[in-house]
Amino acid sequence: HQLLAAQVAGAVTDARAYAAERARAEALAELDRAKTTFFSDVSHELRTPLTLLLAPIADALADSGGELPEPVRERLTLALRNGQRLKRLVDDLLEFVSIEAGRTAAVRVATDLAACTGELAGVLRAAAERAGLTLDVDCPPLPRPAAVDPRMWEKVVLNLVANAVKYTFVGGITVSLRAEGDEVVLRVADTGVGIPAAELPALFERFHRVTGSPARSREGTGLGLAMVRELVALHGGTVEVESEPGAGSTFTVRLPFGEPDTDTPPPASAAA
Ligand code: ADP
Repeated sequence: HQLLAAQVAGAVTDARAYAAERARAEALAELDRAKTTFFSDVSHELRTPLTLLLAPIADALADSGGELPEPVRERLTLALRNGQRLKRLVDDLLEFVSIEAGRTAAVRVATDLAACTGELAGVLRAAAERAGLTLDVDCPPLPRPAAVDPRMWEKVVLNLVANAVKYTFVGGITVSLRAEGDEVVLRVADTGVGIPAAELPALFERFHRVTGSPARSREGTGLGLAMVRELVALHGGTVEVESEPGAGSTFTVRLPFGEPDTDTPPPASAAA
């Protein structure tokens, strides 16, 4: 009897612990949903007035920039530049929140990822060269197309390469793409400032920026890498970084080649 009583008491304790754990998980999920809604609402509310504020400034500069007294023109230009920065932050935030909430589902189509990646990296070559850096693209043809959402892939590549340019002062950037087993692997390597080991675990968290790290420009929101991680995850992939302060960083994205999504239902005979 004693043994039975002890077993019953144990089971009751387990059930209570389980219920408490579930309640905690549900409360956290609820909090997360509330936070996402809050971010999304605030961003929406900010976007319209910001657009309405920036358009007349941009118009004034375009229409009569030449006639304005120099100090006025300078101040308007400054206001416009900072306003545009704020708008970028709001846009990034909205996009990030919608990706995170799963509203922006990936539409994967069969893509020639080597051609597409080479082209994208090329877009930033001019910026790299202006900064006195080299940008090498090493994307030989892959054995088969990869199932990716091209708009999302563009964001992944551009974010990683733009960061590499921003945080590199001498040397350059290499963008390479390879098939490794049933995965396609993108590597963006730079000879830049690097990232201290202590910063690595939180690097992909939203708004995380390495304080004091020298950069070509302080422009940025700390959302880029968080977005990269979400976009890669939507494709069933991973992103990781290896870095040595003072020597450079390599970001590695791995995606399954995968199968394209299709909207076309299978022919009736196939279902039979
Ligand atoms: P940000 O808008 O600040 O660039 P990200 O999310 O893209 O935001 O990056 C987060 C932080 O990670 C950056 O602020 C920077 O400190 C660090 N970082 C990202 N990429 C690199 C890189 N290639 N080299 C060194 N540091 C980097």
